[in-house]
Amino acid sequence: MTSINHGLASLTIDLDALTANYHILRARQPSGAVAAVVKADGYGLGALPVSNRLYREGCRHFFVATLDEALALQPVIPTALIATLTGVAPYGAREQAERQIVPVINSLPELALWRAEAHRSGRALPAFLHIDTGMNRLGLTPDELDQLIQNPGLLSGIELRTILTHLVSAERPEDPLNQIQLARFRAACGKLPRALRSIANSSGLFLGSDFASDLARPGAALYGVNPTPAQPNPMQRVVALTARVLQIRTIGPGETVGYNGIWKAQTKARIATIGVGYADGLPRAISNHGHAYFDATPLPLVGRVSMDLITYDATNAPGLAPGDDLELLGAHQDVDQLAAYAETSAYEILTSLGNRYARRWIGA
Ligand SMILES: *Cc1c(COP(=O)(O)O)cnc(C)c1O
Repeated sequence: MTSINHGLASLTIDLDALTANYHILRARQPSGAVAAVVKADGYGLGALPVSNRLYREGCRHFFVATLDEALALQPVIPTALIATLTGVAPYGAREQAERQIVPVINSLPELALWRAEAHRSGRALPAFLHIDTGMNRLGLTPDELDQLIQNPGLLSGIELRTILTHLVSAERPEDPLNQIQLARFRAACGKLPRALRSIANSSGLFLGSDFASDLARPGAALYGVNPTPAQPNPMQRVVALTARVLQIRTIGPGETVGYNGIWKAQTKARIATIGVGYADGLPRAISNHGHAYFDATPLPLVGRVSMDLITYDATNAPGLAPGDDLELLGAHQDVDQLAAYAETSAYEILTSLGNRYARRWIGA
């Protein structure tokens, strides 16, 4: 059944471009596997269609944040390995084990939880082990690592699959912390039982061959975010967002637009209003900044971004009429550019994309 799109805005996700990005990333690490990080519903683009497509392209490892995300995803890719980055769910160890969702163990107490579950169930349980090499967020601290090395029994009942670490500043190749983390990680792995190793996120895959490992964990670059911010984007664009013009009105010089009148017309101006706003993930911080595009014509955003409405100065687009689509994300303005206007990251833009859009997946 085809449903009519009554929505005021459409979000199109190009799974062919996503696939191209996956292969670009694989080519950067030919000797190891490349997982897909699909936490937060695939960075807002739909973990299920994204994972389904990547599985068909040969991807066999998927990272989510939580057990709930893993359980929702599993029916789509039943034979893939799904791992939870936030570790063992506090009250979900048993279900996690029974459903064969692999935790990324982030601390010794979590390791104890998983070990207890292994003993309870009477079988070895697979795990990833996260070593903190500088993020100071999750992962075994240097102290915990020492304890583990002194007491290998802490791993009894655990089938240690992969040891991983997470880079602090991979998108800044000049940051000395990248090499420091690599050295710390190698030292740690050298003292632990043999296991596969996992280092790079998206940007890490562009740091050179030292950062190659058995399993890379890109997220953002799959979705078209630039992993090399100082250079042109090597990835293909995955997301397009268009919104329909609701009304156009002409205002006189000196009149203001929107809440608090933060934009004032200097001359006669045509104002176009679309039906999306900050409730749809368009940051209020782009008030009076940035553009939408009518074909190739940029229309400056004027006034405050409201909850459900945004206004543009369409004076230089006399052909624009109510019902026409404006491009918010697309060929003329990508996620990185919109993020720059909002002084935030492309990650935040993607994961904030709201649920009022008509979402459409090309190539599903
Ligand atoms: C989110 C995350 C990733 C993916 O990072 P990107 O920058 O989106 O490629 C990889 N590893 C860990 C531990 C993460 O939390």
